[in-house]
Amino acid sequence: MGMCQKLLLFAVLSFISLSVSAADRLKVLIIDGQNNHKWDITTPVLKNALESSGAFSTEVSTTPAKGSPAEAWKEWHPDFSQYAAVVSNYNGEPWPEAVRVAFDAYMKAGGGFVSVHAADNSFPEWKEYNQMIGVGGWGKRNEESGPWLYVKDGKLFRDTSKGNGGAHGKQHEFIVEIQNAEHPITRGLPSRWLHATDELYSRLRGPAENIEILATAKSDLTAENEPNLMVLSYGKGRVFHTTLGHADYSMLDRGFYETFQRGTEWVATGDTKMTGDVPADFPTAEKVSVLILDGHPKQSPPAPKK
Ligand code: ZN
Repeated sequence: MGMCQKLLLFAVLSFISLSVSAADRLKVLIIDGQNNHKWDITTPVLKNALESSGAFSTEVSTTPAKGSPAEAWKEWHPDFSQYAAVVSNYNGEPWPEAVRVAFDAYMKAGGGFVSVHAADNSFPEWKEYNQMIGVGGWGKRNEESGPWLYVKDGKLFRDTSKGNGGAHGKQHEFIVEIQNAEHPITRGLPSRWLHATDELYSRLRGPAENIEILATAKSDLTAENEPNLMVLSYGKGRVFHTTLGHADYSMLDRGFYETFQRGTEWVATGDTKMTGDVPADFPTAEKVSVLILDGHPKQSPPAPKK
């Protein structure tokens, strides 16, 4: 093949990959509205992460504010069945029972769910939700919620000893280590990469059924390699759980973008055909790679850990 043909082929392939028509884009619903994090600042980053891949169209559904009357909640009832995937940027009051039942039915029937950072703090009392996310933190979670997980020499350990579920130290950059390089979400990525400043969640606890650990980071608190990228099955549904993404500066990590894009495509389709190329600017074990997005980061990262 001559150079001109190669260039032409490259141009055609590029055109194909960028020309997913609007109708073929996977429809994703992002839920926000309550969070102990700045959801109004981070939802636009999640939206950009998905839309910039060309694979998704997104809509946002914002719940009533904390303390809203029941009448306001009656108005909030997303039609989950309209979406290939649902992303939660929500950590707050319980959803109305009708919404919980509808979401559970959507997932059991083959829906896709992505839990981002503090979304796994939500709903400690909602049994099915905890089965979906596998492990969660805070909200009085403890050994009765289930084990906390860590990986040693490629083997998953489930620690059932007494203790609270959910902890983190000061924010800092940390190494994310791939534990399963065969999965469509992690395939081809460097086995270790430096993640931008973030909270490093530790001792999350939950039922941890039908769970596969894709990546871990070494906890400051336990010195164990604890999961931060996980996949689960729930009924016919698929779940991608990332503990990363405390703030906009954490989400703008190219590693976060890539794994979030792939995770969302995977829960929607079972593969990463549209998002699975490894970007040239992916972080390495030595160097973070942070994207520039207009108006971000709006939350200044804390001073680096000494
Ligand atoms: Zn956080």
